[in-house]
Amino acid sequence: MSLPSPWRADFPAFAAFARDGQTYLDSAATAQKPQAMLDALLGHYAGGAANVHRAQHGPGERATRAFEAARTKVAAWLNAGSAERIVFTRGATESLNLLAYGLEHLFAPGDAIAVGALEHHANLLPWQRLAQRRGLDLVVLPLDGAGDIDLEQAERLIGPRTRLLAVSQFSNVLGRWQPLDALLALASSQGALTVVDGAQGAVHGRHDLGSLACDFYVFSAHKLYGPDGLGVLHGRPQALERLQHWQFGGEMVQQVDYHEARFRPAPLGFEAGTPAIGAAVAFGATLDYLQSLDGTTVAAHEAALHRRLLAGLRAVGGLRLLAEPHSALASFVIEGVHNADLAHLLAEQGIAVRAGQHCAMPLLRHLGLPGALRVSLGLYSDGNDLERFFAALEHALELLR
Ligand code: PMP
Repeated sequence: MSLPSPWRADFPAFAAFARDGQTYLDSAATAQKPQAMLDALLGHYAGGAANVHRAQHGPGERATRAFEAARTKVAAWLNAGSAERIVFTRGATESLNLLAYGLEHLFAPGDAIAVGALEHHANLLPWQRLAQRRGLDLVVLPLDGAGDIDLEQAERLIGPRTRLLAVSQFSNVLGRWQPLDALLALASSQGALTVVDGAQGAVHGRHDLGSLACDFYVFSAHKLYGPDGLGVLHGRPQALERLQHWQFGGEMVQQVDYHEARFRPAPLGFEAGTPAIGAAVAFGATLDYLQSLDGTTVAAHEAALHRRLLAGLRAVGGLRLLAEPHSALASFVIEGVHNADLAHLLAEQGIAVRAGQHCAMPLLRHLGLPGALRVSLGLYSDGNDLERFFAALEHALELLR
């Protein structure tokens, strides 16, 4: 087998996919789960469910310990220092909405928020709505010819009125690492708060927050081989202190009266109600699993597969890449072929790729495209996946042309 993945057998979904004749190339949408995560999830519930931070009884203490251990593992994974900086949410989307509500009090009419022109809707709409609520300017940072936020234009557009910059680390459509360090330095020099959408970036090796100078960093567990229903909001202590509470309910309080209440600081003050306990425990096990792998070997495998993917795509007549992707994925259109028709014919042949606007409608409109196809890889992807994809693509194009 060419370019086998040494870790594929750790992901039981591939046995099911093999039985069903499915080829999974949509990991940027969500990733498959390692057995270690499934065992932890089952083990957590089989060992006795209990709520966290509430009960003195044994099962409650066990659940609380496991939940807080998961928080510590996330902090370690991010090289974040203290677990107090980690707020569990329901996903990257909820983390960003939390920020847009929690920081609202810092804005006055006429202030500006800057976002990239390539943002996923999750990192655009919460800010767009905040701008509408408070009478703010939403400044869109344009892209250069390569598909990155243009630094010269950003220098012109980010100024003293900019109170917040929200950008993604790695584009889910263009597959390019954004010039984050320069953008963050630019925004910070103007006194703006900085938010990084790490939903894609956290997955592909750049999750060391020790070397990323942002105030807030968000991602979802499900794209990082963990369970869905769980997200992370990491905040610097001084930034977390500026957040106002946004959801209200059990366990986020210090003192409650009928007419007023005092709330806890982060992280628990931002985790109202029963959190996703089993998911957090399972995600802790996912991170243990990922930590047990040799990162260099994983990166080399992903890079080799990505090169193979790009070489294969370049050999297809009439195919145009939306950008030169750095890693993990590739988005493209094919002259004279509608992306939805192609995705349909691929799906009929058992190939799972993503078609459409990828939750980035303004970007696709800017590119003048109704949609595009995206192939995305995980650490378990292998050369056979790509061979099956290319054979199916050739067959589909024969039918369509
Ligand atoms: N940002 C980016 C760049 C993404 O790719 C995604 C998921 N497609 C999100 C945010 C939102 O993540 P979720 O749907 O898990 O909340």
